[in-house]
Amino acid sequence: MARRSMRLVEYGKPFQLMQEEVPTAPKGGAVVKNEYAGVCHTDAHSADDEFSGLAPLKCVLGHEMAGTIVDIDPSAELKVGDKVIVYWHGGCGACSRCEVGETTACLKDVKHWAGITEDGGFSDYVVIPDAKLLVKVPDTVAMDAACLLPCSGITAYNAVCNMVPTVQDFAKHSADCAVLLVGAGGLGLWGVQFAKQLLPAGVRVLSADVDEEKLATAKAAGCDEALLWGKGVDDDTAVAAAKKACGSLGAAVAAIDFVNVPATFGRIEKILAQGGMHVVVGLLGGDAPAAVPLMPYVLSRHHMAGVLMGSLPQLKDLVALMAEGNVKPPPISHHPLENVYDVLQDLKAGKVKGRAVVKL
Ligand SMILES: [Zn+2]
Ligand SMILES: [Zn+2]
Repeated sequence: MARRSMRLVEYGKPFQLMQEEVPTAPKGGAVVKNEYAGVCHTDAHSADDEFSGLAPLKCVLGHEMAGTIVDIDPSAELKVGDKVIVYWHGGCGACSRCEVGETTACLKDVKHWAGITEDGGFSDYVVIPDAKLLVKVPDTVAMDAACLLPCSGITAYNAVCNMVPTVQDFAKHSADCAVLLVGAGGLGLWGVQFAKQLLPAGVRVLSADVDEEKLATAKAAGCDEALLWGKGVDDDTAVAAAKKACGSLGAAVAAIDFVNVPATFGRIEKILAQGGMHVVVGLLGGDAPAAVPLMPYVLSRHHMAGVLMGSLPQLKDLVALMAEGNVKPPPISHHPLENVYDVLQDLKAGKVKGRAVVKL
């Protein structure tokens, strides 16, 4: 028996298809026969070495994996035949952040990241050195959708979780309150649905984007009001329209910025209620500074949370939520393993609609 692996042999060049022996499980680890592997922008950054060697040459990229355990350390909780996804952010396992499952914030900065620093999903089989990073997937969750959960799914889920306590607090007084989600792309669409599932009933979910088509999909995903922040819309107009859409409070009790450029950051600060929660997720602002007047920021008593992916316990909660069947994954297209590099190029060129996954 052999496995086919698409290996990164040279940065910026097509992967090489290799025929290899099927590996066996190391002590404490497992081997998963991949069924689906999501193709993500992060893979394009790794393939082009934009993370300065974080993804080493000879590596198999693909961090969004769903498959079946074919070999596992007998002491592990899961068993051969279990369907699983992979929590791909292994850390040192010993620091206080790793202990609570926040391995993305590992204090020793250890990165055992399957599909980036170590072999991942663009292969028939993947070795997972620590079987504790596997999460069982129930039959009610489609495996092509399941593979998306450890990346875009968990990021949006964690973002919504970060605003839940604040929103619950406001909603105790009156359910007539609203949250604002900026960005109606892939993360935003997950976000709208998670907000509808996790926030108290009656809380309105507003979605803002520069693209009318994306706003239409946000509406279809269940958002209560779509706010067009296109080119002709200045800050004052955008802020006034958002506040009006927030109901009697006239301000959002929480907001998630899936875009996070200086303009969206500034608008959110103006739309948030006193004591509101500002969740920062997007990376598009890069190193650009946001101009936030400092004293008004203090007086507004805003909270802020930065979200990068989510924790292993959250991934388990998310799988349980998906099993209830009320959240729809984005449209998914399937591609053969041999085409993965071409799919990555299409993704970079903005030609992929919805999510592309490799079907193994
Ligand atoms: Zn990803
Ligand atoms: Zn650690």
